[in-house]
Amino acid sequence: MGTEFNQPLGGNAMPRFGGPSTMMRLPSQTDSNNLDVCFVGVPLDIGASNRSGTRYGARAIRSESSLLRPYNMGTKAAPFDSLQVADIGDVAINTFDLKKSIDIIEQAYNQILANPCKPLTLGGDHTITLPILRAIAKKHGPVGLIHVDAHSDINDEMFGEKIAHGTIFRRAAEEGLLDPKRVLQIGMRGTGYAAEDFDWSREQGFRVIQIEECWHKSLVPLMDGVRKQLTGGPVYFSFDIDGIDPAFAPGTGTPEIGGLTTIQALEIIRGARGLDIVGGDLVEVSPPYDPTGNTALLGANLLFEMLCVLPGVKYR
Ligand code: MN
Ligand code: MN
Repeated sequence: MGTEFNQPLGGNAMPRFGGPSTMMRLPSQTDSNNLDVCFVGVPLDIGASNRSGTRYGARAIRSESSLLRPYNMGTKAAPFDSLQVADIGDVAINTFDLKKSIDIIEQAYNQILANPCKPLTLGGDHTITLPILRAIAKKHGPVGLIHVDAHSDINDEMFGEKIAHGTIFRRAAEEGLLDPKRVLQIGMRGTGYAAEDFDWSREQGFRVIQIEECWHKSLVPLMDGVRKQLTGGPVYFSFDIDGIDPAFAPGTGTPEIGGLTTIQALEIIRGARGLDIVGGDLVEVSPPYDPTGNTALLGANLLFEMLCVLPGVKYR
């Protein structure tokens, strides 16, 4: 191996604090031509309801990803042995206009998906997942979904708006972008407005795992069942970093206590291996609230773990 596929720039070729600030120090290109997988940033935060700052998320994730080495010691995945991967930069959103940005993002993903390339997205607030899913569903039809989050993001509207970071999965279901029997929402918690807050999801047929079902335990058995439920069609992975406890991931806009551990996050992603994953995103990293960089570092690692469970990855 070595020359056939792009490789991350190694730490012995250039110190990890130097060199290009691309995801995992991979080569960059401007489109998805000849790629199996692309990392792509969406620097949007005008869909966020509380703290902002996710416009800096993609840049911070790329910076922290400079520490990542190409082989997964835990799972033995060697994604760069068999997949052509590059960083294709950021989508040029219009930071003064959310609706225009949604259209810009959808068009950008239509272009990415014109090639047989799977996008792994560096967010950005969670609003970006709606236009991404529109493009994904246009190509693949309704998809299964693994949605990790403290919040179910199924509000009908926020401040009178139909599109915001807390409405996206209701819109996605209404638009037929999801295969509701193959949707998992995991990590939901916190204070709500009413006992029925998560019921709309369950009425659609989504499987909703509130955080109390995750406390004090390994999620490996749970994911064995999830894999059986979600098999049989394409699956999209949407990971809101606030699904993880703010002790591990404080740099986010709407933190909720009592969340998933970093280890459980790894179990969820690794437990998706074998599914027909067609893309994924890691959203809601807000660097202004992340003084140590740990949240962005975690986000970078989780994106690498998503890469490691894509179809076609070799294990050695
Ligand atoms: Mn969310
Ligand atoms: Mn959230």
